[in-house]
Amino acid sequence: MRFRKQIVELLQRRDLWGLLNKAAELHGHICVGLALGVKTSAVALERLGVLPADDTDIIAVTDNNTCFADGVQVVMGATLGNNRLIYRDAGRFALILVDRRGGKAVRISLAGRLTTPTMENPRYRDYWSRLPQLTEEKRQEFRSLMEKASAEVLEAPDAIFKIEEVPPDPILDALKSTTRPSWTVCERCGVATLAERAVVVGGRHYCPDCAGLKTYAVVGRKITEFKPPSSSPTQTAF
Ligand SMILES: [Zn+2]
Ligand SMILES: [Zn+2]
Repeated sequence: MRFRKQIVELLQRRDLWGLLNKAAELHGHICVGLALGVKTSAVALERLGVLPADDTDIIAVTDNNTCFADGVQVVMGATLGNNRLIYRDAGRFALILVDRRGGKAVRISLAGRLTTPTMENPRYRDYWSRLPQLTEEKRQEFRSLMEKASAEVLEAPDAIFKIEEVPPDPILDALKSTTRPSWTVCERCGVATLAERAVVVGGRHYCPDCAGLKTYAVVGRKITEFKPPSSSPTQTAF
């Protein structure tokens, strides 16, 4: 629980740079997208007057899965695994925060294009456009420009956002059917499968792959049909 405690303390002090550094521990680097995720989350929490301690019931809906989404996960404590993060495949810089206990929700969106003085620097733009080809020295220089731009994002006025109170009901209703995980075993490949996702044929349970269903995944920047190599059968196929 130490991690969540640190996040709450940083929010109480409104130490956005400290939060960005915590987010970078998960994300792997400091960047403007991550900074925007941190800033958006902090503003949303302030608007709702809640703190994301480990016992807080906060749901986050992100409209994109860029670096932004990692800033959101770290600050909000709403993650893929705890089912409090909803990723909507809409490609927008928008975040809805729902306080399930308080029964309130707020949507924060980026109004217009994000820019800062450093992001307008021709050198930053040049390095950004040909990042894979940069030498280690230039890469280092780009990293410090990126950190500078990220700090500028954190300091940007709240006017960069469109902030709206929204009804929480559509989000809470969508989550109503989420059950505690219960597991079954696929009769064909022998892999443990969520009962909710298993297909029952003649009283036997099969995973979606062995039942020949299409599956979808977050691949790159969107949700798309995706078929990884199949598991080998451990029993006779039906
Ligand atoms: Zn990033
Ligand atoms: Zn199977």
